[in-house]
Amino acid sequence: MAQKRDYYDVLGVSRSASDDEIKKAYRKLAKKYHPDINKADDAEQKFKEVQEAYDVLKDKQTRATYDQFGHAAFDSPGGQQGGFGGFSGFQDVDLGDIFGSFFGGGRSSRQPSGPIRGQNSLSRVKISFMDAVNGRDIELNITYDERCSNCKGSGANTAADIVTCSTCGGSGTVISQQQTLFGTMQSQSTCRDCQGSGKQIKEKCHTCSGEGYNRTKTNLTVKIPAGINQGQRIRIAGKGQRGYNGGENGDLFIEIHIDPHEFFRRENDNIYLTIPLDFVDAALGSEIEIPTVYDTVKMKVPAGTQPGTTLRLKGKGIKGMKSGKAGDQFVKIEVETPTSLNRKEKAALEQFKKTSKKTSAYDKFKRRFKK
Ligand SMILES: [Zn+2]
Ligand SMILES: [Zn+2]
Repeated sequence: MAQKRDYYDVLGVSRSASDDEIKKAYRKLAKKYHPDINKADDAEQKFKEVQEAYDVLKDKQTRATYDQFGHAAFDSPGGQQGGFGGFSGFQDVDLGDIFGSFFGGGRSSRQPSGPIRGQNSLSRVKISFMDAVNGRDIELNITYDERCSNCKGSGANTAADIVTCSTCGGSGTVISQQQTLFGTMQSQSTCRDCQGSGKQIKEKCHTCSGEGYNRTKTNLTVKIPAGINQGQRIRIAGKGQRGYNGGENGDLFIEIHIDPHEFFRRENDNIYLTIPLDFVDAALGSEIEIPTVYDTVKMKVPAGTQPGTTLRLKGKGIKGMKSGKAGDQFVKIEVETPTSLNRKEKAALEQFKKTSKKTSAYDKFKRRFKK
């Protein structure tokens, strides 16, 4: 809670002011800061402050209590039940804070906490299709907070520089007594000198200036295994966000994004490739050279190959990272019909048509269709 202003100061009157003077000062200020009249940002806050001061000082009994104990008399959990109901200002009281400081237990976050591991970081890296197939080493420049090797994260120059906090005796908390309307109350709060750790550092680490870590730039060589797939992650231990209270760093994850290949397509561990073939070669059959992700192989296309036929090259797919077994490459044949023929070609095809004794495909279809 912010330090409260003295109620007499708020109203701008002396401590010996009469009831009438207090009333006059209140009316003047309430009018000045009324949120309906005053549109300044802090007007409402000031209006509440004035209202609160007047609520205490207008009553002989509460004014006497305030004169004796100050704000402490009212800033207690029992304040509203203590016969001072209706104080508009008291609605602003942060009960959580009060319960925490008066009764201990309520604020576990104030207790010294143990080591907290840092969060993991994620970094995306784009690689080529072929690099994903074959694997490669990549160089990465990263910046991270490395635990200080000199002080092991403690922030102290030597082990002897870590001493028990003299303020709290190592407990991390201090107990203070407060005079209130209801008698003496003990309040427990986190030691300000050690922030609850119970320890103080006499001399800060010279390497990290007492931070416990050093911002470090480093060049990492990351091994991307052959066969890695889109979206898979590589973990680099200890290069993530820094931990707290001596906790370990999180890990750094490198997420792999693969550029598509112009011709090869991958599905699981299989590779798909479509190749165009002239209709004559499809009819007569041929042996062609097919590129795979590893090399070039000769493949026999049988005579009479139909458009859309898919042929399999066994073992020419991706080697599974876990199974170690290779997938296959599937080659789809796209038969191309010539779009323009010169005179000689045209004559040859017409000759072919004349000599062919076969019923045409279309005539076959017509016959079947009639049945
Ligand atoms: Zn250090
Ligand atoms: Zn302390």
